[in-house]
Amino acid sequence: MTSHSVAVRLGARTVSARPVTDDETETVELIVLDTDVVVIGGGAAGLTAAMVLGRSRRRVTLIDAGEPRNAPSAHLHGFPSRDGADPAEMATLARDEVRDYGVEIRTGRVSGLDGTEERGFAVQVEDGGVLTTRAVLVTTGLRDELPEIAGLRERWGNDVLHCPYCHGFEVRDTPLAVLGGDNRPFTLHQAQLVRQWSDDVVFFPHRITPTDDERHRLRARGVRIVEGEVTRIVLEGGAVSGVELADGRVVPRRTVFVGPRFVPRDRLLTSLGCEVDDNGWVRVDPSGRTSVAGVWAAGNVVDSPAQLINAAGAGSKAAIALNHHLLADDIERAVASDDGTG
Ligand SMILES: Cc1cc2nc3c(=O)[nH]c(=O)nc-3n(C[C@H](O)[C@H](O)[C@H](O)COP(=O)(O)OP(=O)(O)OC[C@H]3O[C@@H](n4cnc5c(N)ncnc54)[C@H](O)[C@@H]3O)c2cc1C
Repeated sequence: MTSHSVAVRLGARTVSARPVTDDETETVELIVLDTDVVVIGGGAAGLTAAMVLGRSRRRVTLIDAGEPRNAPSAHLHGFPSRDGADPAEMATLARDEVRDYGVEIRTGRVSGLDGTEERGFAVQVEDGGVLTTRAVLVTTGLRDELPEIAGLRERWGNDVLHCPYCHGFEVRDTPLAVLGGDNRPFTLHQAQLVRQWSDDVVFFPHRITPTDDERHRLRARGVRIVEGEVTRIVLEGGAVSGVELADGRVVPRRTVFVGPRFVPRDRLLTSLGCEVDDNGWVRVDPSGRTSVAGVWAAGNVVDSPAQLINAAGAGSKAAIALNHHLLADDIERAVASDDGTG
């Protein structure tokens, strides 16, 4: 009596079961994958990708922990037709639109990712549940690590900012501070950059030591430099009113710019073995394809400067590449199972 396993794929699905054939001599292993694509993360990149894939009639599940990076801000800018919108409202609108194309949206956190393109991927959701899928798109964003200074975290995204393209126009011509953070080159560049929005900019080097040349270049553009350790951002009436130094001085300011350390939320990708570049960021090709077949990544998780519109664009690009990848597989399997009589 012989017994062997055969994996059978039916069109877009791989079917799983262990039916025993009539004469019980052959076991056919059938694997059912729940979806074509699981999108992990539902910010601008993930929602856009899910929309493109849903409109392409793919079976898609999006799993999102619901903490997009810009959530602390009351308003978003630089996204035509949504300029000034509440980020939460934009997310709600986008989720409704995506659901209209048959995409399943689950609230939850993915805690594990395993598998291969050949066998399919298993997506482990925290609090139980595993989803199986032909391909994965990771759009989990990044974490902004701020310097440990009292008051910074409380006002992050409102009058403690990092990106003048997002919120610089709203604080134009007002007293601005730039804090030297752990991200030295970013901070020094920021001090020069925000000068474009106001002629009243104070740079607090805090724990970084600018070179003479860097100091000269800042002063030449009218940026004031105030030395000393910053101990606190002074808040009054729930808003920034100044920057306090260790010697007790308070420099009145209305807005503080700071350079966070950008930490990609890429554990799912690295645990699968995705290659990283020299800076430790997961390497992707221009379509978002990682080094692991069947796994794509888009948005801030692989591209820290990406704004909402870039993250959305990267999500769209990855979705189209992913769909082409699945299509190539669909064609191959259809040809392999075609007996030539049709
Ligand atoms: C304070 C602030 C204000 C900003 N304002 C603007 C602005 O006005 N205009 C602009 O263009 N850009 C703005 N940005 C930048 C903008 O936030 C990013 O461009 C954008 O969020 C990137 O989108 P994303 O989809 O890559 O990641 P995100 O929007 O961060 O989305 C990632 C999603 O994945 C989820 N997630 C993470 N891990 C998991 C997991 N394991 N399982 C399931 N889900 C997970 C997160 O909860 C989150 O919902 C701002 C950034 C900050 C910090």
